[in-house]
Amino acid sequence: MDVMEIFESMAYGPAPEASSLALDWMRAHQPLQLFINNQWVIPVGGQYLESINPATGKLLMRFAAAGKADVDAAVQAARAAFPLWSKTPGHVRARYLYAIARQLQKHARLLAVLETLDNGKSIRETRDIDIPLVARHFYYHAGWAQLMESELADYRPLGVVGQIIPWNFPLLMLAWKIAPAIAMGNTVVMKPARNTSLTALKFAEILQEIGLPAGVVNIVTGEASAAGDAIVQHPDINKIAFTGSTNVGRSIRQATAGSGKRLSLELGGKSPFIVFDDADLDSVVEGIVDAIWFNQGQVCCAGSRLLVQENISERLLHKLRARMEHLRIGDPLDKTVDMGAIVSPAQLREIQRLVDLGVAEGAEMWQPTWTCPTNGSFFPPTLFTNVTPAATIAQVEIFGPVLVSMTFRTPAEAVELANNTLYGLAASVWSENINLALDIAPKLKAGSVWLNCTNLFDAACGFGGYRESGYGREGGKEGLYEYLQPAWFVEHTTQVHSLSIPVQMGEQPAQEYLTNTGLLQAMPATIAQPVPVPAIDRTPKLFIGGKQVRADSGYSRTLLNPSGQRIGEVGDGSRKDIRNAVEAAHKASGWGNGTAHNRAQILFYIAENMATRDAEFAHRLVLQTGCTDEEAMREVETAISRLFSYAAWTDKFEGSVHRPPMRGVTLAMREPVGVIGVVSPDEHPLLGFISLVAPALAMGNTVVSIPAPQAPLSATDCYQIFETSDVPAGVVNIVTGERDVLAQVLAEHHDVNSVWYFGSHAGAKNIEFASTGNMKRTWVSYGRQRNWFDRQQGEGEEFLREATQVKNIWVPYGE
Ligand code: NAD
Ligand code: MN
Repeated sequence: MDVMEIFESMAYGPAPEASSLALDWMRAHQPLQLFINNQWVIPVGGQYLESINPATGKLLMRFAAAGKADVDAAVQAARAAFPLWSKTPGHVRARYLYAIARQLQKHARLLAVLETLDNGKSIRETRDIDIPLVARHFYYHAGWAQLMESELADYRPLGVVGQIIPWNFPLLMLAWKIAPAIAMGNTVVMKPARNTSLTALKFAEILQEIGLPAGVVNIVTGEASAAGDAIVQHPDINKIAFTGSTNVGRSIRQATAGSGKRLSLELGGKSPFIVFDDADLDSVVEGIVDAIWFNQGQVCCAGSRLLVQENISERLLHKLRARMEHLRIGDPLDKTVDMGAIVSPAQLREIQRLVDLGVAEGAEMWQPTWTCPTNGSFFPPTLFTNVTPAATIAQVEIFGPVLVSMTFRTPAEAVELANNTLYGLAASVWSENINLALDIAPKLKAGSVWLNCTNLFDAACGFGGYRESGYGREGGKEGLYEYLQPAWFVEHTTQVHSLSIPVQMGEQPAQEYLTNTGLLQAMPATIAQPVPVPAIDRTPKLFIGGKQVRADSGYSRTLLNPSGQRIGEVGDGSRKDIRNAVEAAHKASGWGNGTAHNRAQILFYIAENMATRDAEFAHRLVLQTGCTDEEAMREVETAISRLFSYAAWTDKFEGSVHRPPMRGVTLAMREPVGVIGVVSPDEHPLLGFISLVAPALAMGNTVVSIPAPQAPLSATDCYQIFETSDVPAGVVNIVTGERDVLAQVLAEHHDVNSVWYFGSHAGAKNIEFASTGNMKRTWVSYGRQRNWFDRQQGEGEEFLREATQVKNIWVPYGE
C-alpha cells in the first residue's frame, strides 16, 4: 500500500511493536529455572515445559516444571524468611515494595512485550492497562506496609502463603497477590499458570535486582497436577490464595478442609451488562467492546451477558454489529490491533465447543464478515441473539469473545435476569438516569458494579465475588485482612471456663460483686443460694419464622447438667426443620434493606428486655453449666453490653468512598452476606450465642442458629425476648438438636450464604468440605476456644467483617 492508497482508504497501516529486546532476554535466560530463595534453581526432576506464542503457535522458550521436592524447598525458604520479614519495620518493607514498583516501571515495555508474546493479548492492553496496574498495586501496598504499624496495630501476618494464579492477566494477578501478602509481612510461594510463566520470572529477576531478602518471594512454575497440587497439600503453608475456575476453587476448598489453612478464592463469572432505554447507545457500544472483547473475553468479570431493554434492543444490536465489523484482530504486537490471540489451542477449542452448543440449542449466532488469521489461536468477536435464560451459553462461563444477548421490559425484570446465575463477580449498568442506576446497583449480587463504565480496576478498590465467584477481596483495605490475623490469635493462649468443670454445689456467690452491682437485690432467692436440683419445667420448642414450633421429628432431647442431673428437654431438630428455618430466614431478607437506625433500635431493645430478666438468664446458666452465680451474672451482663456494642456498630461500620484515577468516585458499600448459619460454641452458652448472632443481625443478615447442644436453654430463652423486642419474624431462627448433624445441613444448603461454626476440629472440617456446594463462606474455630469475655476476642471488627461483603460501585461523572 502506498501513501496515496492509505490516504484514500484511511485504513491503518501495520504498526508493530519491536520484540527484539524481549527475544534477547529470552535467549539469555533459556531455559528459565525455578526461583527459590533468590536463586535460580534447576528442578529436582529435571523437567521443562514449553512456552508457546499463541499468535504464531511457535515455541518461545522452555521453563522449569516444579515437582513436590521443589515446592518443599520453596516452602522451606519462605518459612525460614518469615520470622525476620514479619518483624522487619513497616517502613523498610515499604521501601522494598516501592523499589519493586520503580523497577517495574523502568522495565515496563519489556514486560509488556513479554506478556504479549506469551499470552497473546494485544500490546495496547499490556502496555496501557496490565503493566501500569501492576506498578500501581506495588505503590499502593507500599503505602499499607508503611501504615501497618499504626493502622493495623492489632493484626499480624499469617506466615507462608501459597498463591496460584491463572493465565489471563499473568503479571497483574501476580501483583494482586504478592503485593498485599509481602506488604503485611507474609512470605510467598507463587505458582503462575502453565501457559504464562515468563513475566513471573522476569519479575523474579527484578526482585533480585532490588535485593529483596532471600525467601520472601519464591516462584515455582509448572503443572497444576504437580506444583499446584503440592502447594495445596503442603502442611507448612498457612494460606492459599487462588484465582481461576470455580471447579478448581471447589477442589481446593475440599482438599484444604480442616487443615486450618486460610483460603481466598477469585473464581469465574457470567457478568450482566444491563442497558436501559435511556442509555447513550454510542457509549454503550464502546462499553460492550471493553466488556467482552477486552483480552479476547478471557476476563473473569467480562460483561458476557448483554441484557437490553426490549424497546431499544434492535437499534443497539444494529449499532453493535456495525462496530464489530470494524474491530481489528491480528498480530497482538501490532499497536493498532483491538483483539489478539486466544491463550492456547485448548482454550480455542473450548470456545468453539460452547459456540457450537449455542447454535445447536437454537440461539442465533452472528460474526463479522472478515476472517481471522489462521496461523495462531484466533477467534472472532461473536454475538448470540434469541438466547433463552436457561441456555447453556447464557449460564456457563465461556471465557472467550462471545456475547449472549437477551431482553427485559422493566427494571425489576432486569435485576431478576441479571441475578439469574450462580456467579456474582461483576455487573455493568447503563442509564443516563442516576436515580435508576443507583437504585439497581445494590440489588445486583456482584462484588463490583460499574455504572456507565466497565472493567475498571484500581488497587484502592477491592475486587472479588459474591456466591460461586468466590470469597475474599483483592485490593483496598479490605483486601489486607486476607493476609492478616488478629494479634491475640497468635499471642494469647486462651483460657476459658469449660463445661467439664464439676458443679460446686456448696460454693457461695461472690457477694461483693453482686452487692456492688446492685444485682443481688434483683435476684430471686434461689440464685443467691446454693443451687438446688430444679424441677423439670417447660420444654422449649424450635423458633422458626417468628413462631415456636414443635420439632418435625417429634422427638425431644434430654438435657443433663455437668454432674449428670436431668435439667430439662429440648426439641430434637432435623434436616426438615433446618430447611424451614432457612426458608423463613430468606423471606425475612427485608431486614437488610431497612435502615441501620431501625436495626440499632431493635438491638438496644433486645438488650433492655434481657436486662429486665437478667436473674432468670443467670439462673439458667448456673443450671446448665454449673458455673457460679457470680460467673453467671457476669455472663449475662457481658451479653447485654455486647448487644449494646452491636447496636452501636450498626450505623458505624460503614463503607468508604475511593477516588481511583478517573473522573468519578467508587462507593465501597458494606452489604450483608445474606442468610448466615450460626453454630454456637459450648463455652458460655448465652454470651457465645449473643456474640455471634448480634453482629450478624447488626449488619442486616438473617440467622439460622444452632445453640450449644449441652446448654441450649440460654438461646431458647431468648425467643420471648426476640418476640417482645420487635425482631421481625424469620430474622432469627433457632433449631436445637444434634449440633454437627444440623450444621452439616446448613453447610450443604444452597440458600445459606455463610456458616459460622464454633465447634470441634472434626466438625469444622466437615463444614468446610460441605460448603463447596454453592461455595458459601465459612468461619470456623477448629475447636479452638475464645475468651468471650475479652473484648478483643469476643467482639468487634473481626465479627463485623465476617457479617459483611464489600461491593464497589463505580460512578464516573462529567460530560
Ligand atoms: P484453572 O482454574 O484450571 O487454573 C488456574 C490456576 O490453578 C493455574 O495456575 C493452574 O495451574 C492451577 N491449578 C489447576 N488445577 C489445580 C489443582 N487441582 N490444584 C492446584 N492448582 C491447580 O483455570 P485455567 O485452566 O487457567 O482456565 C480454565 C477456566 O478457568 C477458564 O476457561 C475460565 O472459565 C476460568 N478462569 C477464571 C479466571 C478468573 O480470573 N476468575 C481466570 C482464568 C480462568
Ligand atoms: Mn504462552
